[in-house]
Amino acid sequence: MNIYDSNLIASLIEKDGNIKAETIENADIIIVNTCAVREHAVNRVLSRIDSLKVLKKRKPYIRIGVTGCVPQQLKEKLLEEKPFIDFVLGPDNLRKITSCIKDKNGTFVKLFDTSLYSDLSPARGELPETFVSAMRGCNNFCSYCIVPYVRGKERSRHIEDILNEVGKLGKLGYKRVTFLGQNINNYKDRGKGLPYLLSEAAKVEGIERISFLTSHPAYFPLKVINVMKDEPKIEKFLHLPLQSGSSRILKAMNRGYTQEKYKGIIDKIRTKIEDIALSTDIIVGFPYETEKDFMETLNLVKMIDFDFAYMFKYSPRKYSLANNFIDTVNEETKRDRLNELIRVQSEVIKKKSEANKGKIFDVLITGENEKNYLASNGITLYNKRVIVKERICTGEIVKVRIEEVKGWTPIGTPVKEPGKNVALGLVPNRQKRRM
Ligand code: SAH
Ligand code: SF4
Repeated sequence: MNIYDSNLIASLIEKDGNIKAETIENADIIIVNTCAVREHAVNRVLSRIDSLKVLKKRKPYIRIGVTGCVPQQLKEKLLEEKPFIDFVLGPDNLRKITSCIKDKNGTFVKLFDTSLYSDLSPARGELPETFVSAMRGCNNFCSYCIVPYVRGKERSRHIEDILNEVGKLGKLGYKRVTFLGQNINNYKDRGKGLPYLLSEAAKVEGIERISFLTSHPAYFPLKVINVMKDEPKIEKFLHLPLQSGSSRILKAMNRGYTQEKYKGIIDKIRTKIEDIALSTDIIVGFPYETEKDFMETLNLVKMIDFDFAYMFKYSPRKYSLANNFIDTVNEETKRDRLNELIRVQSEVIKKKSEANKGKIFDVLITGENEKNYLASNGITLYNKRVIVKERICTGEIVKVRIEEVKGWTPIGTPVKEPGKNVALGLVPNRQKRRM
C-alpha cells in the first residue's frame, strides 16, 4: 500500500512539471513516505530523515516533506524536533503535496474516511506487474495494530473505477495485477464483493495473472476459493495472516477467530485447491504470551506448512488497545521466539522448495536476472519467484521445469512446447510507464 501511495505522490509531483532526480543529492524536492506499523520501521525512517539535515543545510532552498503514517501518528512532534522538515502530510492529505511544495509549511493530517484517490493515476513501475488499490483504511482494530488510527475507516473504490484502471493497465502491457486492501475480503461496492471483482478482472484483455492482499481469516468467504479454482488467471495463492497459533492470544489480539477456526479454513481451502500456496504473518511476544502459547504457534506452523511467512516481534503501538497491556515478554525472549520460529519456517520452505524439483510450472517472465543477463526472473501461478535459465521477453508465459534450488529460489529451464514460439528477449525493458 505504501508503494502504491509513493507512486501516487510521484505522479502528483510529476504532473506539476517536475522530473525525477537521478540521485537524492540532485533533488530539489525530497519526500519521505513512511510506515508506522512497528517501532522498528519508525526508527529507521526517523534516522533516514535525520540524514537529510545536512542536505538542507547545504541547500536551504530544497523542500523536504514527510508523508504517510508516521506524521499521522507523530504530527507536530516531527516538525518541532526536526525543523528542517518543511511539511508533513497524512495518508488522506496527499493531494496537498504540490501546494505544500510551492508555498505551504505545516501539518496536514486530517482523516477523511472517504479519500480513495480514484481519479488519480499513480506512476507505474516496470512492466509486467503492478498494484491496484481496491480499498483504503481498516475497521478491524486488532488490539496490537495502529493502522485503523492512521489510515482511517474502511472504504472501497467503485468497481467501475477499478476495472477501468485494470483495463488501461492491460493495454499498457501489464500482465499481473495485485489488488490491495487491509482486509480485502470486505471489499464491497453496491452489493458487489471480492469474488465479483476477481471474476470481472479476469475478463480484462492482456491481464494474465491476478492476485489480492490481504485476506482476514475472520471474514474469509469460501466463495472466493471457488472463483480462484475456476478462473485460470487467478493465482493459486493466498496470504492469510495467522498472527498467533494460540486461541487465548488470538482473543487478546481481537482477531475474531480461534486456532480451530483457522485450521478449518485451511482444510476447506485445501479440499478445493489441493496445492494452493499459503503465506502468513505471525507476531511473537504479544503481551501475556506464555511458552505454551508460543509452542502452539510453532506446532501450527509445522502442521500447516506455509509456503512463506512474515514474522515479527510484538511492538507496542500508540493508540492501540494492547498499548495499555503490560509488555510481559522481555526483549530476549521475544528475540529467541522469533529466531526459533524463523528456523522452523525456514525448514518448511526448504522442504517445500526441494519438493518442486522436476515439476513443471507456468512462469510469467518478470524481467532480466540481475546477476546473469542471459537468465530471466519469473513468477509462478503459485506466487513463487523463480529463475529461468534463458533470457525470455518480459511478459511472456512459459513452461519451466525446475531443476535445482539455490537458497530458497527454484531454478529451471523452459520446456519446449510444440507449436509455441517464445520471444527470446535481450531487449531491456526498463521503461517507466504512466497511465
Ligand atoms: N491488514 C493486514 C496487515 C497489516 S500490517 C492484516 O490484517 O493482515 C502487516 C502485519 O504487520 C500484520 O499482519 C502483523 O503481523 C504485523 N503487525 C502489525 N502491528 C504490529 C505490531 N504492533 N507489532 C508487531 N507486528 C505488527
Ligand atoms: Fe491492522 Fe488488523 Fe486492520 Fe490488519 S486487519 S490492518 S492487522 S487492524
